[in-house]
Amino acid sequence: MCGIVGYVGKQKAATIILEGLKRLEYRGYDSAGVCVLKDGRLELAKKSGRVEVLVKEVARHHFTGTTGIGHTRWATHGGVTDANAHPHISSDGKFALIHNGVIENYSQIKTFLLSKGYGFQSETDTEVLCNLIAYHYAKEPAGASNPPHANGHGTGSGSRFLESVRKALQHVEGTYGIAVLCVDCPTELVAARKASPLLLGVGDGEHIIASDASAIISRTQSVVYLKDGEIVHLARGGFTITTLEQEDVSPVVDKITWSISDAEKGNYAHFMEKEIFEQPIALENSMRGRFSEDGSTANFGGLNLTASELRQIDRFMFCACGTAWHACLVTEHLIERFARLPVEVDYASEFRYRNSPLDRNTLFFVMSQSGETIDTLAALREAQRKGYRVLAINNVVGSTIAREANGGIYQHVGPEIGVASTKAFTSQLLIGAMVALYIARLRDMSFSDGVSYVSALKGAPDLVRQVLKQAPEIKAIAKRFARHADFLFLGRLSLFPLALEGALKLKEISYIHAEGYPAAEMKHGPIALISEECPSVFFAPKGEIFNKVVSSMQEIKARKGPVIAIITEGCELPPGLADAVITLPDCHEAVLPIVAAVPVQLLSYYIAVERGCDVDKPRNLAKSVTVE
Ligand code: GLU
Repeated sequence: MCGIVGYVGKQKAATIILEGLKRLEYRGYDSAGVCVLKDGRLELAKKSGRVEVLVKEVARHHFTGTTGIGHTRWATHGGVTDANAHPHISSDGKFALIHNGVIENYSQIKTFLLSKGYGFQSETDTEVLCNLIAYHYAKEPAGASNPPHANGHGTGSGSRFLESVRKALQHVEGTYGIAVLCVDCPTELVAARKASPLLLGVGDGEHIIASDASAIISRTQSVVYLKDGEIVHLARGGFTITTLEQEDVSPVVDKITWSISDAEKGNYAHFMEKEIFEQPIALENSMRGRFSEDGSTANFGGLNLTASELRQIDRFMFCACGTAWHACLVTEHLIERFARLPVEVDYASEFRYRNSPLDRNTLFFVMSQSGETIDTLAALREAQRKGYRVLAINNVVGSTIAREANGGIYQHVGPEIGVASTKAFTSQLLIGAMVALYIARLRDMSFSDGVSYVSALKGAPDLVRQVLKQAPEIKAIAKRFARHADFLFLGRLSLFPLALEGALKLKEISYIHAEGYPAAEMKHGPIALISEECPSVFFAPKGEIFNKVVSSMQEIKARKGPVIAIITEGCELPPGLADAVITLPDCHEAVLPIVAAVPVQLLSYYIAVERGCDVDKPRNLAKSVTVE
């Protein structure tokens, strides 16, 4: 949540920062702001609303400075107002600061700073940090500071600037990704992180700091992923990285493997639409090179576990948040079904505080598209603290979770920009199914069952293509039902998590109240909601429970509830039972959840469009939840 960009170079900083903010806007869109340094002054523009509002505001000024910072906010402390927008300026006018995260002890620091005469313009926790840096800077005698950096770019005041940030951060509790400007250092910027993502783009005579690679990729593909507790000091000529404890860090420069077009909408109306239609390719990328030569099992290069170590495991724990949690529930079903080992799935935000008893031979997995979800990261750290090895399933290469995990599996689906996850979800389902296969083949699954499982997974992209061809029919169904205020999503077994996901998608982007339930549980409460005004979306695939699900549909119909049935080929529904039917290709049970995800994604998408909602930037949400 929240997007950060900082620039030091020769170009107009504001132009580059606004471009970066547009690309980072999916991380937060309550307000946006930019500040550049020019002739020893801080030039500031900030507005509540979208980046486009800020762009108009900036156009009224002539920001020509070549060092600057910018921010898109997802408010935690203080309402959505111009005053609370970032950057914040210290009350002595010397520092500008942008922040992603939460300063938990802001209240004590604020009391201290008020007693020292510092004033505050906003209700944010962030402004406190800005003034604390100013306080330490004022305390440090000019010129009597630490020596310049080894690469020679540090000046006396530059080092004083850096040390003031370091001192302030030593007093901060909470999480932060920050970037700071100082009027005394016109071509310098200091940035730091703790539990909020930050990376440095190393360009040609310029450096860019940002929350994620999408803001950097148009200028350079060379990046340094900063670690928690690191501070980077940027100047035109170079940069240094040190830790909070003043140790030097040797930077590792990585290459971003995707390109700018991957982060653009192309001919689609929304990123969500693009990402739904990209799913066949995304699935192909997620599975590429990951099946054994004999075609009977999955192979993962990065698990860092031998087959015999995996054989010792007798229980799995999965932690995640939101949509990834639903993918974990499907994975639970598949591991238990095919590998016959118990699996527990927990919300990362609950696990981190509830001190769950874990058994010695438990293998721990975390799942997060961004690899930055703060609760999932905390769950990973908590499990590692207890001595567990943690594997991560995640999409963003170089993310904090990927780096801190003991091994893992990258999704390789390219950047997901739509706030509502789609292609990352189906890829997580696919990888979960492959993990289940891999474990099952180490245990009791036969070679021939493995071969048919693998060939089913390989066929998943084409099956998804078939469902995508039904988009016009699903759009028509969406139009018919778009004005209802409540929905139920009902499914059983591996499709119960899909019912949860269907309800979540609809809530997220169309603001319709929706609940997901196991189909038979609906009698224990939700059926009270049923009327002509509350449609139910049923997953009713072929199989032994088909008739049971049809009975649940009958119970809804008997109470005049409209029924949208998602069935598989070969299923026959009693005439008149369903008001709308979507037919999926018949498929292997490991593939069914992937195929079943597509119609509910499309249904939610078209309903949201029909209702005129801002699909890619839904109300109150933001991508990559980096605050608690
Ligand atoms: N806590 C800060 C605020 O509310 C930063 C929130 C964010 O990460 O966007 O302004």
